[in-house]
Amino acid sequence: MADLVSRRDWNARAPRGDYTQLDSTRGVKVHYTGGRVDPGIAGDHNGCVSLVQSIQRGHMDGNGWVDIGYSFVVCPHRKVFVGRGLHHLPAANGAGLNAGHYAVLGLVGNAGLVQPPDGMLHGILDAIDHVRERGDAGKEIKGHRDGYATDCPGEALYAWVRRGAPRPGGGGGTTPPEAPSFPGRLLKYPPVMHGEDVRTWQAQMRRRGWELEADGAYGPGSRDVCRRFQRQQRVEADGIVGPTTWRLSWEAPMP
Ligand SMILES: [Zn+2]
Ligand SMILES: [Zn+2]
Repeated sequence: MADLVSRRDWNARAPRGDYTQLDSTRGVKVHYTGGRVDPGIAGDHNGCVSLVQSIQRGHMDGNGWVDIGYSFVVCPHRKVFVGRGLHHLPAANGAGLNAGHYAVLGLVGNAGLVQPPDGMLHGILDAIDHVRERGDAGKEIKGHRDGYATDCPGEALYAWVRRGAPRPGGGGGTTPPEAPSFPGRLLKYPPVMHGEDVRTWQAQMRRRGWELEADGAYGPGSRDVCRRFQRQQRVEADGIVGPTTWRLSWEAPMP
């Protein structure tokens, strides 16, 4: 099941004209942004939303298209943004090539965030499952550069496409770790805070290889581990486990 971000949820502009109907396709073409993608989006889903909005602006105001050119856009968090969506002709594959394939963009570029995180690869495959099940797409998975002169979708995504676009982790359908829901209070010190939420976070940090006791007490040791982890993740190192740090503690790739 694709974790869809509806157009309303990403605050998409309305298309400025009618879409061309697309009954079926041979499959999907995979794309990348071609520019620099701020690696910070890996730890900040709001950054993904802003980026998708700016891509839509570029396509509508810059290219003069009726809408964003992609059928779907996938971010590092395994979210699938609805672009033109099902049964609408995309524009991103290049003139004459849009009726053959849905266009799916992964939010990586040729600088900054270059390597697609596992969550993104899963998300692209979720989008592909979605267009196969609901959009009458065939089995092909290709890169934008197949049949069109472009470096898109970049070396990393294209190599993955050429390998047959396998699910990361090999298991075929394995899901990336997902953080338990945020406990709803900030974990911080001083004073020492106690609770099961503290113990849950500490145990997770131990799994990540940090040295600290999972004793359910958030003291100076926990705060220091938190700060070092935050610096590693390039988020503000305030030593406080808030929603972002909590989520990263599970979902950030292991170094
Ligand atoms: Zn492309
Ligand atoms: Zn995201």
